[in-house]
Amino acid sequence: MTTNITLRLSDVNSRAAAAAVAAGRNPDDVAVIAVSKTVNRDCIRAVYDAGHRQFGENKMQELAKKAAHLPDDIEWHTIGHLQKNKVRLAVQHSDLIHSVDSVQLLRRIDTIAGELGKRQKILLQANVTGEFTKHGVAEEALEDFLQTAIACANIDCLGLMTMAAFGASQQALESTFGTLRTCRDRLEKKFDILLPELSMGMSGDYEIAIAQGATLVRVGTAIFGARQV
Ligand SMILES: *Cc1c(COP(=O)(O)O)cnc(C)c1O
Repeated sequence: MTTNITLRLSDVNSRAAAAAVAAGRNPDDVAVIAVSKTVNRDCIRAVYDAGHRQFGENKMQELAKKAAHLPDDIEWHTIGHLQKNKVRLAVQHSDLIHSVDSVQLLRRIDTIAGELGKRQKILLQANVTGEFTKHGVAEEALEDFLQTAIACANIDCLGLMTMAAFGASQQALESTFGTLRTCRDRLEKKFDILLPELSMGMSGDYEIAIAQGATLVRVGTAIFGARQV
């Protein structure tokens, strides 16, 4: 079981590196976040023992529990929709929160990071597909949103994150990921800041995302196998 996991991990790592090289990029500029939601500690441990250090979770109680029982040098990424009442756990345990998509959430993270004496690294979650979903800031609203993020004393905004539409064609995926990169480039110019991270791409489409400039790909099932729940 764990042998399969480590084989799949090394397959994902080499495919990610190959996709970077094919796009004329440095493979070191692309990190695979192993999405370990619902995955038990033994399986996470196997991936850790294979040398992997970046893991992603979307449920904060689950993250807190895993963090308490796994090595301290793991870098935890909060990737899913974050509820207001889970912000404290998220700030306590996350190196990077990918999924910040409301001003209310931004302010709450800023306040709690201040209380905990931490600078919290975040990404703004953008909805660039125009698809109706509850999560992600619309493209037109990103400027105002980033402005607010920059003004937060205890937050470092490192870039943008997006979720592609479920079941999208390769062409639609390229367009979604390409649009996120263009938004990032535009915001960097407008605010004269660096937004180095683009979190985009999952098990089915991380190579396409890397071709479009992803620096963080969030890969669950391609490493750990199908989720039980
Ligand atoms: C679950 C999840 C992933 C990983 O999905 P896979 O298809 O299993 O790779 C990536 N990003 C987010 C936000 C998720 O919730």
